[in-house]
Amino acid sequence: MKTVSIYGIPFTIQVKSTVHEVGHDIDEEMPLMGEICFMSHSINIIDSNKPRMLRVLLHEIIHGIVEEGHIARMFGKDGRHDEDAVDQLAVGLAIALESLGVTEL
Ligand SMILES: [Zn+2]
Repeated sequence: MKTVSIYGIPFTIQVKSTVHEVGHDIDEEMPLMGEICFMSHSINIIDSNKPRMLRVLLHEIIHGIVEEGHIARMFGKDGRHDEDAVDQLAVGLAIALESLGVTEL
């Protein structure tokens, strides 16, 4: 099991085989491919192909950086993280890393 440091706080990364083990959106009850929990300091991601897992993991790590770093401009007017911005950063970072030969974290 890997651990990623987010602003110095260790979060364990757990790969789950089903979306039900990952978690679900509280509001929409949608199955998620990834979830970060700030109570248990863990990140769950769905077992998938490498490009998908890299994007999902980066997405959740960026949520962690936004939260732990209190990056105000990454929050929407509703007080929640700007999901579009989080995802655009995750995909952009994933493509940059892949171009350097990093295909998994
Ligand atoms: Zn998200």
